[in-house]
Amino acid sequence: MISQNLKLIRQQIRDYCGIAKRPEDAVLLLAVSKTKPAEDIAEAYRAGQRHFGESYCQEAVKKQAELGAYDITWHFIGPIQSNKTKLIAAHFDWVHSIDSFKNAKRLNDQRPAGLPPLNVCLQVNISGEASKSGIGLDELPALCEQVMLLPNLRLRGVMAIPAPESDFERQRQPYRALVEAVKQLARPELDTFSFGMSGDLKAAVLEGATIVRVGTALFGERAPHADRG
Ligand SMILES: *Cc1c(COP(=O)(O)O)cnc(C)c1O
Repeated sequence: MISQNLKLIRQQIRDYCGIAKRPEDAVLLLAVSKTKPAEDIAEAYRAGQRHFGESYCQEAVKKQAELGAYDITWHFIGPIQSNKTKLIAAHFDWVHSIDSFKNAKRLNDQRPAGLPPLNVCLQVNISGEASKSGIGLDELPALCEQVMLLPNLRLRGVMAIPAPESDFERQRQPYRALVEAVKQLARPELDTFSFGMSGDLKAAVLEGATIVRVGTALFGERAPHADRG
């Protein structure tokens, strides 16, 4: 089942890249495995998937231990709690959800010696919803400058989770604004646009996503997660 879904999603991404006249390998598929068991990750792995995204730190670390022999690149995509930064800094290759200098600094200071710099994205609240995490577009230039100075982090780009929207054109609009804002920064090292999920994959690829984060379409519906750690 998972391998079938994976095949289908990969084909969709290639098709959308074709429509957008982008190279067919321009978009990395991040398999969002939060709340799903290690066996599901192993199944996707056997079908060739190597990048996995997790939102709950302790749950992720447990699965990583079970999957120790697998050559997986782990992405942390959930809200960052200050008391979890040490664990995140030690157990992940990427963090997509940086939304304050304070947490960026903690991750920088707690990145274990001997590991390469942690790849990070700044999470931008592009729909302007007060309750959602992420910085405002207006805060992006200053936080970029600050995070770029941290030697144990490698700032790669931006991540966004827009408000759910079923209309295709309205799905595209906030992504377009975000891409434009990053272009204004004129920083070629910012090569990553992490946006697009199961429900808006096409809009995201057409607007320039370089990482799409897909959970439900790949692993099926999720049960609610009890421990938000
Ligand atoms: C859960 C989650 C996803 C995956 O969403 P689906 O709609 O299941 O594809 C993507 N990004 C983030 C940050 C998530 O928390």
